[in-house]
Amino acid sequence: MSDNASLFERAQRVIPGGVNSPVRAFRAVGGTPRFIARGEGAYIHDAEGKRYVDYIGSWGPMILGHGHPAVMEAVLAAAHEGFSFGAPTEREIELAEEILKLVPSMEQVRLVSSGTEATMSAIRLARGATGRDKFIKFEGCYHGHTDALLVKAGSGLATFGHPTSAGVPEATAQHTIVLEYNNVAQLEEAFALHGAALACVIVEPIAGNMNFVRASVPFMTRLRELCTQHGALLVLDEVMTGFRVGLASAQGHYAKLIPGFKPDVSVFGKVIGGGMPLAAFGASREIMKFLAPLGPVYQAGTLSGNPVATACGLATLREIQKPGFFDELSARTRRLVDGLAAVARENGVPFSVDSEGGMFGFFLMPELPQNYATVMTTDKERFNRFFHGMLDAGVYLAPALYEAGFVSAAHGDADIAATLEAARTALR
Ligand code: PLP
Repeated sequence: MSDNASLFERAQRVIPGGVNSPVRAFRAVGGTPRFIARGEGAYIHDAEGKRYVDYIGSWGPMILGHGHPAVMEAVLAAAHEGFSFGAPTEREIELAEEILKLVPSMEQVRLVSSGTEATMSAIRLARGATGRDKFIKFEGCYHGHTDALLVKAGSGLATFGHPTSAGVPEATAQHTIVLEYNNVAQLEEAFALHGAALACVIVEPIAGNMNFVRASVPFMTRLRELCTQHGALLVLDEVMTGFRVGLASAQGHYAKLIPGFKPDVSVFGKVIGGGMPLAAFGASREIMKFLAPLGPVYQAGTLSGNPVATACGLATLREIQKPGFFDELSARTRRLVDGLAAVARENGVPFSVDSEGGMFGFFLMPELPQNYATVMTTDKERFNRFFHGMLDAGVYLAPALYEAGFVSAAHGDADIAATLEAARTALR
């Protein structure tokens, strides 16, 4: 059996940083990444045979836990039929129908292979449909690693974004306007300045890439109004929240709080693939008609609508529609975060928590932050000590303080109790 340290050493020889996606490298928290050998239900096992309660769930997709029997059966059956054909299959229609049934704001949907591809294509579609170039994103919202989206705030509204990553030309980012999340005044100012040039605004309705920060109701209300007034499309990035915060996703949640609320374009990923590479974007027929082969906006993919991935996604979506699924998942997630808050109180540690459906966040600060700048004031050293304390005790949390956590249907009361016990020790 290999140990994590020697696997990491070997990995670094052949893979930059030893990982195929940066946050897996534990750079933020220090220490050796765990190499995962297998998962079952709520648990993952590392290369050394140590078992962890898994609160990452592949960063969101594994809402049923690992190796759910119905999903496994669907995937194995699909694999026996063939991995990929590069031609349409009936299952793609079934998955599209299933998604549209659950997301009334969309009339058509295009399947792709990653959230990055889906948001990139959604922006291109918005630009193609409006004939405009500029768009707004918010600081702390991550929408994948496309060039134009890898942009953080410049200084103030009037300046356009500067790339956050090397390798992104200034010119690519010049149409990206980055604003503070939940800041209505800034939003109004940006629309006043650039409204007629805006193709869209892209937003995470509950931002899971700065831990867990909800868009406030006044912010979301004004965002919808301004987009409508100025003819810009509202693109809701539900890659993380989609079918994770509830069966109606975050847009259904906000529709309950804001009468008539709906996005123009929606982006999904993670849960709709159940752990396989699958994502989607969709909108009204009126907007989707701009997409190739119907219209001039090009978008394509060799593995798009992959037969094995669609089988996995379809089986997952069918399971989460069973009666009581989200009530149960939400209650369990609430028990976890309320329990963590209670343990923190016992130990006099400043702490705040939030959750929606099976997605949660906790902060080592007394009040829930409303934007990225506040999230970043967290005591990182303290978070890192907490993370490693939990990891040693067999609880696998996200290895960075700006990531949300995920509970699956496979997490039982005993797992929550064990997590709280570990937290009691770690916070002490
Ligand atoms: N959008 C959001 C909200 C995400 O959380 C992510 C990934 O975490 C993406 C887009 C990009 O998805 P992917 O990693 O599948 O490319």
